[in-house]
Amino acid sequence: MKIVMLGAPGAGKGTQADMIAQKYDIPHISTGDIFRANLKNGTELGLKAKTYMDAGQLVPDELTCDLVVDRIAQDDCAKGYILDGFPRTIPQAEFFTAALAARNERVDYAIDVEVPDENIVNRMSGRRACPACGATYHMVYIPPKQEGVCDNCGAALIQRNDDKPETVLNRLKVYHDQTQPLIDYYTEMGVLKGVDGTKDMKEVFADIVKILED
Ligand code: ADP
Ligand code: ADP
Ligand code: ZN
Repeated sequence: MKIVMLGAPGAGKGTQADMIAQKYDIPHISTGDIFRANLKNGTELGLKAKTYMDAGQLVPDELTCDLVVDRIAQDDCAKGYILDGFPRTIPQAEFFTAALAARNERVDYAIDVEVPDENIVNRMSGRRACPACGATYHMVYIPPKQEGVCDNCGAALIQRNDDKPETVLNRLKVYHDQTQPLIDYYTEMGVLKGVDGTKDMKEVFADIVKILED
């Protein structure tokens, strides 16, 4: 099962991808997480990506595409995987389709998590992340049991640098300009499924499971 998650920044792609990955025992591959891990480890890729991420811009396709294709060639992806945050541009999607075709494969589902812009700023300003285990919370909608502390591992939660309001608006614009066209791209491929991302996280998940098991 090869799944691509689409949706605006803050729509809940990562939250849903985590639950799907657990239920179906397939890896959750987030390009944002990969860039952040590189940044934390001080790699050259991390340093290059940082400038773009801090500005709310996309990291160039040359730094992104090969990394994903290498990742899906690993053994743990044999049964499938869920991509969160990739592809994000038409050239990335075309590159990915071609890379899959070379392996006689294709995307099975592109799930678009639909959330209107006016909800996005709230979603992202309340997002808190665990720097140790990667878990994501929301101060109001999905709070940890103890304020500011990760339920899983006890680390102190942080706000992502690029979730500050001034950057959020940039990211939303980049989404509309560069990523939203992927909805048409995957519709034409016949694999697009939309879900209402404004519902409670468990309801959104149930809707996605219904699509995957239909
Ligand atoms: P969000 O959870 O808000 O959708 P991500 O964690 O997916 O954000 O991405 C954070 C940042 O990492 C993006 O704003 C962008 O700079 C970079 N990034 C992640 N995935 C890609 C990609 N496929 N192409 C280009 N840049 C990316
Ligand atoms: P994305 O990966 O699309 O950027 P996230 O999964 O990180 O989005 O979710 C963005 C923020 O919204 C997080 O703080 C998350 O806890 C919260 N969130 C996710 N799904 C929902 C939902 N269905 N209702 C309310 N808040 C949600
Ligand atoms: Zn944690």
